[in-house]
Amino acid sequence: MTKSEILFERAQKTIPGGVNSPVRAFKAVGGTPRFIQRTDGPYMWDVDGNRYIDYIQSWGPMVLGHNNPVIRQAVIDASEFGLSYGAPTEAEVEMAELVSSIVPSMEMVRMVNSGTEATMSAIRLARGYTSKNKILKFEGCYHGHADSLLVKAGSGALTLGVPSSPGVPDDFAKHTLTVEFNNIESVQAAFDEHGDDIACIIVEPVAGNMNCIPPVDGFLEGLRAICDSYHSVLIFDEVMTGFRVSRGGAQERFGVIPDLTCLGKVIGGGMPVGAFGGKKHILTHIAPTGPIYQAGTLSGNPVAMAAGLAAIKQIAADGFYDSIFENTRNLAEGMRDLAHKHGVPLSINVAGSMFGIFFTDVEKVTNYQQAINCNTKQFNQFYHAMLENGVYLAPASYEAGFVSKAHTAQIVADTLAAADKAFASIDK
Ligand code: PMP
Repeated sequence: MTKSEILFERAQKTIPGGVNSPVRAFKAVGGTPRFIQRTDGPYMWDVDGNRYIDYIQSWGPMVLGHNNPVIRQAVIDASEFGLSYGAPTEAEVEMAELVSSIVPSMEMVRMVNSGTEATMSAIRLARGYTSKNKILKFEGCYHGHADSLLVKAGSGALTLGVPSSPGVPDDFAKHTLTVEFNNIESVQAAFDEHGDDIACIIVEPVAGNMNCIPPVDGFLEGLRAICDSYHSVLIFDEVMTGFRVSRGGAQERFGVIPDLTCLGKVIGGGMPVGAFGGKKHILTHIAPTGPIYQAGTLSGNPVAMAAGLAAIKQIAADGFYDSIFENTRNLAEGMRDLAHKHGVPLSINVAGSMFGIFFTDVEKVTNYQQAINCNTKQFNQFYHAMLENGVYLAPASYEAGFVSKAHTAQIVADTLAAADKAFASIDK
């Protein structure tokens, strides 16, 4: 037995499923999750000493690559003074100012501890601010695990939502409307029926939880126009896209400005952090300036702020993204060529440093149905072949991949050499 297998058996006795977040368990692809011992740059090493080129990058935060020395030093320095104060610090002010300067629509910023907290709080704020109850989200988008967001579409396009998890009461789910991503008509139809009571639209501006699906032309603009005409709040969940699809996130890349933005992942440099923010006249409605309650004992934690600041300051350098975007494009094009060479139908989406590989003959995947109709058998075979050849992809076909600054042209070439073998080995 490998050390990972032994640890996985042991873990399952005291941790549900052996993991602290479900996708890590390899349930979709089968086999034993690799228990990780250490990381550096593009690499992770498991407890058995195997080295992998990692395209998960902690599910997104590591835009500089793993174990970045500047972030590591900032954490060591900050921890010299204690780990948590429960009182305001200068680092929090600096963080809010920095975020605001990079994402100008975030005129005010409130720090939280995870992406889930960011979206949950932004939705409460939108509801409190508009005095409306319903929210509108998209099929295949994930915004964390708050009750009102664990909701799928009802049986007809315009039915109210139904819970997608036991433990979410129908009475909560009925306030969540779920429509099709990249289909502005479905959004308009929902507003035709319920527009007076929709507090907000929440959207991943590039969907990264049904693999990687960029917005089609006009989709984000359409959401902005609908929110404007119904006085609903437009929330961009940029937990994944923030500091990733461009420095200022998807809103900068696509030129559509939301009222509220949620951030996570990159903003903590690997520490547990999230943030939400937006227009000042909305943000002042939260406590203590306003009546809408939101709080957190560890929010703005000094060590997390130090890590986040060290990450964001490096990202802010001119031309930072050029090589990452180029390497991501080359990786995608290389994969496409190799799949073609081996007679495997494959479609690839790229948005900045995010990419998605779809085993399908659909030329351009733009929605959830197309994403879930992909050939999961081929994906699973490809996944394990890549793992055997030293490349660690997300262990499920509906997750985006992430490229970091540490993924050089050589790392891309090494990945493509592994992909050549992997495509050759799968069933056609
Ligand atoms: N929003 C998006 C777009 C995400 O991708 C995620 C996590 N993958 C979340 C929210 C939730 O963030 P967290 O896991 O930090 O709670």
